[in-house]
Amino acid sequence: MEQQKIIEFQASDFEAAWENTPTLVNKKAAEFRLCYICKYHLQKNLAEHLLMNHDGFNWTLDLINAKKPFLQPDNYIAVHLNCVPNRRSLDSRKQIKRVLKTPWKFDESWIEDNSVIDTTKN
Ligand SMILES: [Zn+2]
Repeated sequence: MEQQKIIEFQASDFEAAWENTPTLVNKKAAEFRLCYICKYHLQKNLAEHLLMNHDGFNWTLDLINAKKPFLQPDNYIAVHLNCVPNRRSLDSRKQIKRVLKTPWKFDESWIEDNSVIDTTKN
C-alpha cells in the first residue's frame, strides 16, 4: 500500500490561500470570501487550523491546480472543508477565473434565517 503524504501547512499558507479567494462586494475581504465550489461565504475566523472542532463550515486550504500539485502560495485557495470532495476538476483555474468575473454578494437573509450574529456590524 502506498503511504499517504501528510503535508503540514503554515499559518502563512492559509493567509495566502485567503488572499487568492474571491471576494464579496458587500463584505470586508479580510472577514468574508466566497467558496468558488458552492458559492456560499467563507468566514475568516472559521479557518480549520485555528479551530478544534472540524465542522464542514470551516474552511481549509486547497490547491487551485491539483493536477500539478505545486506547493506554492499562488496555487492555494480557501474552500469549505465539506466542499473539497465536490470540486469538479483537479485543475480549477478556469472555473475560478469565471467566478472572479462575477461580482458576488453576501446574502444578508442568511443571517436572519440562521440567527447568526453578524460581527461585522457595530
Ligand atoms: Zn463551499
